[in-house]
Amino acid sequence: MKTDPHQIQTDLIHAGEVEERIEGAVVLPLFQSATYASDEASSYDEIRYLRLNNSPNHRVLHRKLAAVAGGEDAVVTASGMAAISTALLALLKSGDHLLAQDCLYGGTHTFLTEQAPDLGITCDLVPGDDIASWEQALRPTTRLVYVETMSNPLLGVPDLEAVVRFARERQLISIIDNTFASPVNYRPLEHGFDLEVHSATKYLNGHSDIVAGCVIGQRELIRPIARQLNYLGGTLDPHACFLLHRGMKTLALRVREQNATGQRLAEFLEAHPAVDRVDYPGLPSHPQHDLAERLFAGCGGVLSFDLVAPEAAPGLLGRLSLAVSAPSLGGVETLVTRPAATSHAGLEPEERGRMGIGDGLIRVAVGIEAAEDLCADFEGALQSL
Ligand SMILES: *Cc1c(COP(=O)(O)O)cnc(C)c1O
Repeated sequence: MKTDPHQIQTDLIHAGEVEERIEGAVVLPLFQSATYASDEASSYDEIRYLRLNNSPNHRVLHRKLAAVAGGEDAVVTASGMAAISTALLALLKSGDHLLAQDCLYGGTHTFLTEQAPDLGITCDLVPGDDIASWEQALRPTTRLVYVETMSNPLLGVPDLEAVVRFARERQLISIIDNTFASPVNYRPLEHGFDLEVHSATKYLNGHSDIVAGCVIGQRELIRPIARQLNYLGGTLDPHACFLLHRGMKTLALRVREQNATGQRLAEFLEAHPAVDRVDYPGLPSHPQHDLAERLFAGCGGVLSFDLVAPEAAPGLLGRLSLAVSAPSLGGVETLVTRPAATSHAGLEPEERGRMGIGDGLIRVAVGIEAAEDLCADFEGALQSL
């Protein structure tokens, strides 16, 4: 699909920028205006008004995101969840059914299992590594399949090629949440997915200072989503657009560094006697290591690990001096969480246990600090256990 000849780090800087620099400004200025003087618009969606996502700051981001992901068009949204819920509500109607992976981001899982049914949209949750079971869950009303590139917090990778084949053969729309990989490590549209969604809060912005989201893909699918967004109102504020635009310029540099540091920290932890298990697709011990090697340019900065003594996990977090105990990922600073007490606290312990999320599991999202300093931080904290 991608026709321009540049590498992603070049597109991140130059793709989609305005043709003529405004007042010579090298950086696109921030257009903090809610409305724009214009002649009569041909439709409501064409009016130049901030909620309709068509300020210069929005338009440049849409073109840049489409270019770096190899898509035809894109739309930015007020958060990752706005991107996900708006896309699903635009493409599904009452009576429709979808198949979704069984270990989704918590907000998406709750939206699909608790909110969407009230609107007549039903969902079956299916394992990402067993596409044969998808066939059994298929219904005449199935319209769409939904997966994530890597699951949280165990970094499971679905059988992505089989998912695309399954969807194409049955003419189902395929959507992938590519937040954990970013377009630097995996470009799903080039592998046959119809739409890619992101929490741009994470790697795309990369500085933990805004929430944002986006949907990228074929124009004929983006158009109804952008329209739906006009009515649901999940517009990204222009200042957040400006920050996302700035953050994206260094995406490739940051993610490549985070790939290398994630790999190094995973290897360090796997070799440590106080650590029972490490989940990172870059490790040969990971169940989908071969698939990740084949499909991804890198495995990103998120990994999780279990301690031999799980009861020591809460104390460990307090003994880290560089890594901050906070949710989210993809920023320049390293963040750690204990999923049993944060993202998965709402589940019963037995349910967590079945999913492989023990009380001692710790998730790390590496930033861009020096890998040796981070390993030393973990070494120190583990030593005093
Ligand atoms: C954070 C996240 C989301 C939600 O994004 P927000 O920007 O917080 O709304 C969705 N999917 C994944 C994989 C995420 O990590």
